[in-house]
Amino acid sequence: MTAGSVTVIGLGPGDPRYLTPSAAAALAGATDIVGYGPYVERAPLHAGQKRHASDNRVEVERARFALDLAAGGGAVAVVSGGDPGVFAMAAALFEAYEADAARWPDVAIKVEPGITAMLAVAARVGAPLGGDFCAISLSDNLKPWDVIVARLKAVLTADLVIALYNPISKARPWQLAEALKLAATERPAGTPVIFARAVGRADETIRIVPLDQAVETAATADMSTLVMIGASATRLIARAGDLPFVYTPRSVGMRP
Ligand code: SAH
Repeated sequence: MTAGSVTVIGLGPGDPRYLTPSAAAALAGATDIVGYGPYVERAPLHAGQKRHASDNRVEVERARFALDLAAGGGAVAVVSGGDPGVFAMAAALFEAYEADAARWPDVAIKVEPGITAMLAVAARVGAPLGGDFCAISLSDNLKPWDVIVARLKAVLTADLVIALYNPISKARPWQLAEALKLAATERPAGTPVIFARAVGRADETIRIVPLDQAVETAATADMSTLVMIGASATRLIARAGDLPFVYTPRSVGMRP
């Protein structure tokens, strides 16, 4: 039997209009959809496709399963929210593949990009990523908390805007507040902090608070929230009847 393919597909943040035409075409051509349950549900239905929903914390196992299906001839779509390369399934797939490449010699692997949460959030509030920025996953499931703190300190010193993915979960209730307290030691009290929950979905909520109120707002965050901490130049532009715009100028130390 000819080996098939695995395409790791980004579904975007939630609004189906944010799915790229290229990702939609890859989904339409798939024989099998593999992924964490809620993402599999978000993939548009196509007749004759098999759906394999799995639990959240089994990424490498899921990747091996997808590669095995493809070795048997399937056109397998592995779905992720946002972009599949950002704290998601594309790296898990390569971890599985690298560990056992000889098992899937002829499987074609491809990655279809999607709009990652921080870009959707940025567009929703203005242009907070207009200067230099970074993304950090606050989850200490895959790296020690010490490493996260060291990285936070480094990027706080570097004055980058920080997008915090995976800010909080039932198993990790205190890390977000710690990160925000650390930020408050390095950045002015008025620095804008964005709490953006479920962007692009029906239950979207966005809060913009100054850094000195961010710890108390942390209690409103959950697993669907992205937290963005401004840099020293990040500022607000008030708007009547809506949240202010948040933006970071492109220039540093020069007249814009
Ligand atoms: N691959 C995904 C990120 C996976 S990590 C992407 O590119 O967006 C999961 C984290 O992403 C969540 O804890 C949250 O911080 C963020 N996230 C994903 N979708 C989001 C959305 N619609 N709104 C806000 N944050 C989101």
